[in-house]
Amino acid sequence: TFSVEQAKQVMATQCPFCSVQCKMEVVEDRSGRRPTYQVTAIPNKASEGRLCVKGMNAYQHAVSRERLLHPMIRKNGKLTQVTWEEALEAVSSRLSGLQAEHGAHAVGLYGGGSLTNESAYLLGKFARVALRTQYIDYNGRFCMSAAASAGVKTFGIDRGLTNKLSDIPLAECIILAGTNIAECQPTLMPYFTRAKENGAIIIVIDPRVSATASIADVHLQVKPGMDAALVNGMLKVIFDEKLIDEAFIKSRTKGFAEVKEHVDSLDLGEMADITGVSLDLIRKAAISFGKARTGMVFTARGVEQHADGHMAVRNFLNMVLATGKIGKEGCGYGAVTGQGNGQGGREHGQKADQLPGYRLIENPEDRAYIAGVWGIEPEELPGKGVSAYEMMELVHSRDIKGLFVMGSNPIVSNPNAVLVEEALERLEFLVVADMFLSETAKLADIVLPVTSYLENEGTMTNLEGRVLLRPAGRPAPGEARHDWQILCDLAYWLGKEKYFTFRQAEDIFNELRMASRGGIADYYGITYERLRKEEGIYWPCPSLDHPGTPRLFGERFAHQDGLAVFQSVDSQSPAEQPNHEYPLYMTNGRMLSHYLTGVQTRRSPVLAAREVENILEIHPSTARKYRLEDGVLASVQSVRGTVIVRAKVTSDIREDTLFIPMHWGDAQNVNRATPALLDPNCKMPDFKTSAVKVQPLAEY
Ligand code: SF4
Repeated sequence: TFSVEQAKQVMATQCPFCSVQCKMEVVEDRSGRRPTYQVTAIPNKASEGRLCVKGMNAYQHAVSRERLLHPMIRKNGKLTQVTWEEALEAVSSRLSGLQAEHGAHAVGLYGGGSLTNESAYLLGKFARVALRTQYIDYNGRFCMSAAASAGVKTFGIDRGLTNKLSDIPLAECIILAGTNIAECQPTLMPYFTRAKENGAIIIVIDPRVSATASIADVHLQVKPGMDAALVNGMLKVIFDEKLIDEAFIKSRTKGFAEVKEHVDSLDLGEMADITGVSLDLIRKAAISFGKARTGMVFTARGVEQHADGHMAVRNFLNMVLATGKIGKEGCGYGAVTGQGNGQGGREHGQKADQLPGYRLIENPEDRAYIAGVWGIEPEELPGKGVSAYEMMELVHSRDIKGLFVMGSNPIVSNPNAVLVEEALERLEFLVVADMFLSETAKLADIVLPVTSYLENEGTMTNLEGRVLLRPAGRPAPGEARHDWQILCDLAYWLGKEKYFTFRQAEDIFNELRMASRGGIADYYGITYERLRKEEGIYWPCPSLDHPGTPRLFGERFAHQDGLAVFQSVDSQSPAEQPNHEYPLYMTNGRMLSHYLTGVQTRRSPVLAAREVENILEIHPSTARKYRLEDGVLASVQSVRGTVIVRAKVTSDIREDTLFIPMHWGDAQNVNRATPALLDPNCKMPDFKTSAVKVQPLAEY
């Protein structure tokens, strides 16, 4: 409720919906009969005063009547309002009961990449200190794990962008691979159009003629899953044309000879054949990138969400290193993070194998350091757990019996969703903390209401590695609590309150600073006070007088010897191939108006109205072949499950490929058809290449 003085709230905040973290002012006026809202973009160094349609309408979900306002417990099959005391007591007693009966690892935690740094950090600590379970992972496993592991192997460090956004217009050639920035991070597009105006050549690699491809000088409409092979073809041209930077390779890298030998043995004609991209276009793209004095490469989920996504990214990094395009102005690599805190979400210990500051849970020194910060013995820290989808498998096999989900909707976002739904139904106890009754929350035994971006103070780290402070602007609605508050409250009920004595987000951040100190993602020098004065600070920032690090690798890479590492990469085909029964590829992705599984954007009236239901993009000749007309309902089936979607006939897609967005649940959930094939290097599922068949729903 608002007092008369609070009738007009002016909130300086950041958009919650993607990794740019555009700044905005939201004015909420409750003086009239109905509240009104006014949204204005505020210039900052990332968004430069722009907002996309998602940002303009983000407030709508925060003020939605569908917000959860009270804790609920399922009684006689129905979620029923209870007090916080009853809910917290029930969560703690059910979780500790399961642990007493089946052991500490009978419960798991499932986090999200949209949580603030403070909540992400505390969730990791809560798993290890309050519950002492090894099972914690998060939805960022599906977002960043391939690029993150590739960055660590090649550079010794994982930061989304190796340099700041303002370097983009200085690049003479830019490769955008498997990234649809025009719809996913729209306010970044002017950086690329400025580069183009400056004369840059833009190369887009995507099986679709996406909105981003509209600015391409060269569009390589590659077969799904053939990115690594395409880069091998480009590398061959770069080597044949002697467009490598020999001095850079010699002084800054190792492993080049193996890559050269491997690529030299390949046949360029065969690369064109298997990738579906003509020899001419491969040559044109490779020569453009090789000859440019400056250049940048960006990858996103189109390259990364494959059973060999890690290796595909490494091949792009090979190309960056071979041409010496890193560590200087207008040069670098960017993994274009999708989630609002996709960068920070993966730095502070939500991952099964990591402790805060990217420290490794299996490294004795790292364990001892974090145990010291947390005030426990290193032996008390559990070991390495499993990835997000593997946790679902353990739920399915009933090894994990209780699950706590915070800031995520795993029933829609996991691959092989039919099995995941079955798994979650098998749980003895499911608790979900969310703003809405998401598809996952609908199955929960207990639902806990949380605050939105307008109510919850905390830091977010954008795709550049720039840490930003997002202030709270309005009071929590109803009885909603901050994620971190819920964790502190639960720690109290579990008798672990002495480790969770935080009174405000800043207290947690100050502990996070200590936990990250000396680690790869070092936040020690970043304070709330500094963040209030400065417009974001790039990590690593190891001391209070350190300015932060906008551009990495100027002098050395982060490996101990300071060198970057080449890795030869096979021209592998996707793990799942079309066959007689399932003759088409299916790939997935985002739409302009929606975010992740759509829990928030489907509840924003303006965004929901723009794209009301899921679609199937299908090429006209493929549609004819399978008797589909524009606008009819179609069933798309794989061996795992069926998706029901409305056909959109378009020549913007390859004839052998279908495209379905990822923002809807239930029968429209594209993941009912996707496979549970995981990349062995990072456990990224292969969302992007499923073998499917399609037919009109009427014939299904
Ligand atoms: Fe900015 Fe991304 Fe929000 Fe759009 S969705 S306003 S690009 S942060």
